Amino acid sequence: LCDGLAPRADLLIEHLHRLNDTEGALRKGQLAALAEHLRLSQVEVFEVASFYHHFQIVDDDAAVPRTTVRVCTSLSCSMAGASSLLHGLQAKLAGDASVQVIEAPCIGQCHQAPAACVGQHQVPQASVACVTDLLARGETAPRVLVPSDADSDYTQLRRLLGGALTPDQVLAELKASQLRGLGGAGFPSWRKWETVRAQPGRKAMVVNIDEGEVGTFKDWQVLTTTPHRVLEGLLIAALTVGAEDVWLYLRDEYHDGRVILTQAIEALKQRLPAWQHKYPGWTWPAIELRRGAGAYVCGEESALIESVEGKRGMPRLKPPIVAVNGVFGRPTLAHNLETLWWLPEILDKGGAWLAGQGRRGRSGLRRFSVSGRVNRPGVYLAPAGITLNELVAEYAGGLPAGHTLKAYLPGGASGGILPAALADVPLDFDTLAEHGAFVGSMAVVVLSQHDSVRDAALNLMRFFEHESCGQCTPCRAGTVQSVQLMTEPTWDTERLAELSQVMRDASICGLGQAAPNPFDSVLRFFPEEVQ
Ligand code: SF4
Repeated sequence: LCDGLAPRADLLIEHLHRLNDTEGALRKGQLAALAEHLRLSQVEVFEVASFYHHFQIVDDDAAVPRTTVRVCTSLSCSMAGASSLLHGLQAKLAGDASVQVIEAPCIGQCHQAPAACVGQHQVPQASVACVTDLLARGETAPRVLVPSDADSDYTQLRRLLGGALTPDQVLAELKASQLRGLGGAGFPSWRKWETVRAQPGRKAMVVNIDEGEVGTFKDWQVLTTTPHRVLEGLLIAALTVGAEDVWLYLRDEYHDGRVILTQAIEALKQRLPAWQHKYPGWTWPAIELRRGAGAYVCGEESALIESVEGKRGMPRLKPPIVAVNGVFGRPTLAHNLETLWWLPEILDKGGAWLAGQGRRGRSGLRRFSVSGRVNRPGVYLAPAGITLNELVAEYAGGLPAGHTLKAYLPGGASGGILPAALADVPLDFDTLAEHGAFVGSMAVVVLSQHDSVRDAALNLMRFFEHESCGQCTPCRAGTVQSVQLMTEPTWDTERLAELSQVMRDASICGLGQAAPNPFDSVLRFFPEEVQ
């Protein structure tokens, strides 16, 4: 089963996928054999295999269902009837030992809620009928999607290769564009580039395509429509900072995206010899694709790096920052996929063009994933500083008939919940701090008067409880206790406030630090729902 995969410890997760895809689960005897094959201890293999949600460890003689159906029960899908879909499927397929139906956290298809995944086949607007129909036809392979940029000529990359642009000019345009990291943190991109570029030794780059924030699906859209533009940006970045190794880390739920990305990388590799001949003197990076395995925390850059190295995706303590000491100890440029997508555009139109976009004094364009109670859920490229009211009215087709705005999530599960009274504040990095919220990866979920904000907050906290990596107590125990307290008819607000403080102060990474945001928002803006 491991033919064609090198017996390297850093490829452990790839080996596990190979076994899991073939067998439907990981048998204990196979894990022991794999440990020997990779010259690892059994505990190293078992601890990794048991960390990731998409791996299931079973006894050697256990019967394993051939297909797993995952039903997303995160917020947007939940609002669209995920619970009845889950229970309907479990009832319908109860006697079928070849299928198991399980709950899944957000699978990044919130605009097509309720969503499910049959094997590796993503199902938008899923129903009991269409899922059973796919099972009957054995359609469990990834959907085939066709990107729009397969004939890309990599114009801006070739300008760099041919000398029409220098790496210094690329960096200057990046600086002028004021491009910020679009994975959620919003850190100025040029600063990362300068830091990595200035480091001695062999440098690396990781591309974060692990978008797992509830409500976010923009990277999926970018990846499945314009993968070559992402690869062009990737090469421009790698050549400018001098990264010799690049890992693309893709979330496992995006099976269709993996097919597209694999094809795009292969097509790129076929073009490389001609470019290497035509443009000598460049050190070309080695590019490898790594598959996540169902762990939201791997969206955190140091957890992602641990996973790239074949380990459990547990965030590292900082400092050192990854730009100085990242993957395999090398200075590492870590970028979200969309951030790279912008580079060809910036070099084509000029950094000042992008910086000149925006409303209310904000700079740039932002890709919002919009879902929930709107007529046209989807990904919208809109000016930074747009308000929720404008975004919904101008882009998402307004609210459905019979619904009025009650609340919204400006930034997925982590970004807090704001009331309708704050639907006119500009949406961008740093504009919502005074309201205890942030936009993060720009995942907007709209709630109407028919939705319960306390139920939404509980749904989000259950997500954090499920996704905590367990490394630090405030997050591991705090999320469990929060869920217990939030399930009570009346919330113990004092206890929750205490938990919030401890989780914010003492959690290692952003997951635990931001996890209290949903209940803090309810206590602040919707106390009548919990008293
Ligand atoms: Fe893990 Fe949570 Fe601690 Fe982050 S805050 S390191 S997710 S336990």
